[in-house]
Amino acid sequence: MPARIISISLVCWLAAAWVPAQTLQQLQQRLNMGKAAPAAPVPAGRGADVQLVERPWEQITDQQLFEHGKTALGQNPSKWHHAETEHFVIHFHKRIDAQKVARQAEFYYDQVKKDLLAEKDRFDRKSHIFLFEKDAEWHQFVADAKFMEWSAGVSYRSELYFLSRQGSGDFAAGTLAHEMTHCIFYRFVPRRIPMWLNEGFAEFESGAAYAKFKGIGGGNRGSGRRGEADFPLQKLLAATEYPKDQSDVHEFYRTSERLVRFLITKLDRSRFVPLVMKLADGASLESAVLEIHADKFKSFDEFVKRYEKS
Ligand SMILES: [Zn+2]
Repeated sequence: MPARIISISLVCWLAAAWVPAQTLQQLQQRLNMGKAAPAAPVPAGRGADVQLVERPWEQITDQQLFEHGKTALGQNPSKWHHAETEHFVIHFHKRIDAQKVARQAEFYYDQVKKDLLAEKDRFDRKSHIFLFEKDAEWHQFVADAKFMEWSAGVSYRSELYFLSRQGSGDFAAGTLAHEMTHCIFYRFVPRRIPMWLNEGFAEFESGAAYAKFKGIGGGNRGSGRRGEADFPLQKLLAATEYPKDQSDVHEFYRTSERLVRFLITKLDRSRFVPLVMKLADGASLESAVLEIHADKFKSFDEFVKRYEKS
């Protein structure tokens, strides 16, 4: 992964880590994007009541964009439609796409907030989501932003950009939930954080949030995933780029999720965000754990032993 473009802890290429050798078309097939799928009805109570207010760009209440958002918006904002919800601004071509994404985004926002036991987020602006529908437009953006050319979607800080051809709008893929969860987590922790933590949280949160949104049970938080989650811990903690080998990449994600799941569900959920803030300050996991969980662990070895039993 080209960490030279932007810090890897802030960016995630949709599906990139899973299938980098595949073509864009294959990626979209895998994500169930780019085909005319009928819209699944969203039952009341699962984001169905999200207010999506369409406005000209000049009247959008939060126009602050990061660099890639500015690139996506381009010189002529009127080439997009714009609409906003409580926490998101959505730039789109087909309103039905914007509605689906708005419902999911606000639903996941509530879910993340609940799971972090947060009263409010730490972000002073709305998150922008760009829904591209034309290949040429998307490829131009990807080239301008210097993202990987095969990307089907990218999250960066609190922004998300992705391609759904011709308003086909099946945004239900769990992988998209992963990307959206990155953007939302950034609202609660708007800092640079270690790669394992960023990916681990997105994996931990997105499986359950997506399942709940679709009303298909409690969700899969890693324990039900196929494959081992035994990526070497010290290597995981030190990683600043994805492993080169494909099978290692899968294991990296699973192990990141396992560690985050351990921190949130097996220790003390209310101390997760304080621990994350320590890591964002540059502390090692060892010193953060020994400070935040001083009553539980006298040494990092004790922590590691308990984690390994999880
Ligand atoms: Zn990711």
